[in-house]
Amino acid sequence: MRDRHVGIAEEGAGEQGEGMPSDSVYARMMAGRSVESGRIRHLRSVLGRGLRLRCPRCGAAPLFRGLFSMYEDCLSCDLRFEREQGYFVGAIYINYAVTAVIAIAGYFALDHFIGLSLTYQLILWGSFAVWFPLFFFRYSRSLWLSLDYIFNPESLRGERRRGPRG
Ligand SMILES: [Zn+2]
Repeated sequence: MRDRHVGIAEEGAGEQGEGMPSDSVYARMMAGRSVESGRIRHLRSVLGRGLRLRCPRCGAAPLFRGLFSMYEDCLSCDLRFEREQGYFVGAIYINYAVTAVIAIAGYFALDHFIGLSLTYQLILWGSFAVWFPLFFFRYSRSLWLSLDYIFNPESLRGERRRGPRG
């Protein structure tokens, strides 16, 4: 018996000539790659500042003055943190999503690995859903600010002295 595997898969893959990358295309590819790695570096540093609860732009100053109260602007670079009423509603979604994902994943993990009963699961994840969002409150705001700074840096320009207030 003889196999009849014919190499038709390569049909159309071997055109010659015009598709070859020229020097400028190569240069553009390399420039694109360095822009890409610069972007990734930027992303990592902004998200790192977010996780450390620091200003997404300069990373030099903290976001919070107390446990739950924020500064209005960055003490170091004047970046405005809460730029409009209700700006941090997005942080609530982040907080909710992270809480839900951890609780659901945790539920299935405990069910699978140690077969924890439904009652214990409800007690455990019920109290988790109460306490974790409080713990994560500051991080959710900080991450929200960082994400906004990454995707929309111009909208967060510092405008600290908008006239005397109070
Ligand atoms: Zn700053």
